[in-house]
Amino acid sequence: MNNSFICPNCGTEVRVGSASCTGCGSDDNTGWSDDTIYDGIDLPESYEEHSKFQDKKKNSHLFSVFVGILLLLLFIFGFLF
Ligand SMILES: [Zn+2]
Repeated sequence: MNNSFICPNCGTEVRVGSASCTGCGSDDNTGWSDDTIYDGIDLPESYEEHSKFQDKKKNSHLFSVFVGILLLLLFIFGFLF
């Protein structure tokens, strides 16, 4: 059964779901696991890529809005003349 894990900070066996380590008192906020540390390193890179993706999405959205307005104007002008 895998309902406990070894604290990477102090090596104490910690029950899965525990709020904090019984050995050293580390918890999610103080960063007790290697995963947390790696997440911190990964975050800026993935965030940058994410924001780039967002910018791309925003630009294409703006472009489609622009095209939509242009088509609407053409439609209105076609109606008038
Ligand atoms: Zn610990």
